[in-house]
Amino acid sequence: MVVNLVMPLPHTLIIGAGPAGLTAAYELTRRNAPVEVVEADDVVGGISRTVERDGWRFDIGGHRFFTKVGRVEEFWHEVLPDGDFLLRPRMSRIHYRGKLFDYPLRAGNALGNLGIVEAVRCVGSYVWARLRPPADQSHFEGWVSARFGTRLYRMFFKTYTEKVWGFPATELQADWAAQRIRNLSLAGAVRNALLPRRARGADITSLIEEFQYPKLGPGMMWERCAELVAKAGGTVTMGTSVTRVHRADGRAVAVTVAGPDGERRIEADHVISSVPLPELVRAVDPPAPPPVLAAADALRHRDFLTVALVVPADAGFPDNWIYVHTPGVRVGRIQNFGSWSPFLVRDGFTCLGLEYFVDEGDDLWESADDDLVTLGTAELEALGLVRPGAVSAGYVVRMPKAYPVYDSGYEQAVETMRHWLAEALPNVHPVGRNGMHRYNNQDHSMLTAMLTVENILDDADHDVWEVNVEEEYHEQADASSSSASAGGRHGTGRAAPVLPRRP
Ligand SMILES: Cc1cc2nc3c(=O)[nH]c(=O)nc-3n(C[C@H](O)[C@H](O)[C@H](O)COP(=O)(O)OP(=O)(O)OC[C@H]3O[C@@H](n4cnc5c(N)ncnc54)[C@H](O)[C@@H]3O)c2cc1C
Repeated sequence: MVVNLVMPLPHTLIIGAGPAGLTAAYELTRRNAPVEVVEADDVVGGISRTVERDGWRFDIGGHRFFTKVGRVEEFWHEVLPDGDFLLRPRMSRIHYRGKLFDYPLRAGNALGNLGIVEAVRCVGSYVWARLRPPADQSHFEGWVSARFGTRLYRMFFKTYTEKVWGFPATELQADWAAQRIRNLSLAGAVRNALLPRRARGADITSLIEEFQYPKLGPGMMWERCAELVAKAGGTVTMGTSVTRVHRADGRAVAVTVAGPDGERRIEADHVISSVPLPELVRAVDPPAPPPVLAAADALRHRDFLTVALVVPADAGFPDNWIYVHTPGVRVGRIQNFGSWSPFLVRDGFTCLGLEYFVDEGDDLWESADDDLVTLGTAELEALGLVRPGAVSAGYVVRMPKAYPVYDSGYEQAVETMRHWLAEALPNVHPVGRNGMHRYNNQDHSMLTAMLTVENILDDADHDVWEVNVEEEYHEQADASSSSASAGGRHGTGRAAPVLPRRP
């Protein structure tokens, strides 16, 4: 009698076909482990999808492919052939009251835009702030004004910050400003503005002055990855949500999914979850204890919508995106998708993505698409970025839960859920961005998935919660979510302020 001593590989159910879920699926199928991915939406890629409307393709925000994690870089190039990647120059400017300021600031350009009178006023305001610093520097406004003067603060910090986070800058704590722009001073900014780029010595900056980008957008990566998973024997079921995670005997035993054909139960040895952490906790049956459910209710997100407007190519701009610091409009940032890749747009036209930072259910979120297209068109014209009548079509994409909110209780809430899950359902593995309520970009979302697969298949003991913690990363002094301020480094907005708690 022959005894088969080879243990069958565990069956893993993956919730979500975003970067984290599909990376996990790819890594599992690579090792012949059975895997089923369940995706609520009808497109893959999650927040890193590429939306397609009438042949136009665009991102949820622009998604740069840049990583310091070698295995992520290798993964990208294993999934997509090199020929599918473009190496794009990075260009972005700040729109302020009809003028476009280079970012990072350059002296000649800044002076030319401000004019000598305003430049003198800015210096005066700076000197005044040094002599009579604001009494209260515990908030963002006081902290930044003390270091740059009120005039520069208003131009390059206030409006954009308030749009992104939806709070007055006087309610944002200063420690975030200190963390984000700690190495920045007016003197440093001026020095930075005057010196030629190479002399600034910031190798990280120069590294990401170019970035990789799949020619059909980030969704191309995840569409291809889903195909490879299916080819290797995994399944990716679209339009189907996980509604319950069943637990028994100290572990998860199955999930219930709801799709077009109704509900069904899928047994699983492991569950990898990229759904927002609170949703995972709420789905567990029998339910989590009240304090854990209370922790789930305590977490919040900031939401995002894009109004994509089609304009003639010559009405576009060379920037990948423009930060809108001009007061009086609600748009926060404008992408030119034609500058990301010519393959996203059509001959003679480009597509501009107006980004609005919103809360689900607020007036913008609830507005009809036609009204949003009208608003976006009016704001684009008011900013002087296109001539009246240039917009020929518009599309709206809403992305709930784009940003996990860090507020005063979030860390404790995450800890509570994380520890309960680890004890009550050790075979359920939260990964990714909202899955862990972390400001993870694609690369770190993917890395959490890669390490989780090793935990499942190799009994490795990786603590995936350590990914991105304490890591000196290229975004550390970025201004893209605090401001597009003088001399800051480039980044994708990983750091986030601790927001006040909403009642
Ligand atoms: C404006 C913006 C710009 C960004 N720019 C960059 C950038 O330049 N570079 C970069 O690397 N990263 C960028 N990111 C971050 C990047 O988008 C995320 O890190 C990445 O998409 C996270 O992957 P994920 O798989 O963890 O989660 P997600 O992308 O959120 O995917 C989760 C998936 O789970 C599905 N799901 C949720 N609930 C259920 C359920 N109950 N059942 C089944 N499926 C479910 C969702 O539909 C979704 O498809 C940006 C993010 C934003 C918001």
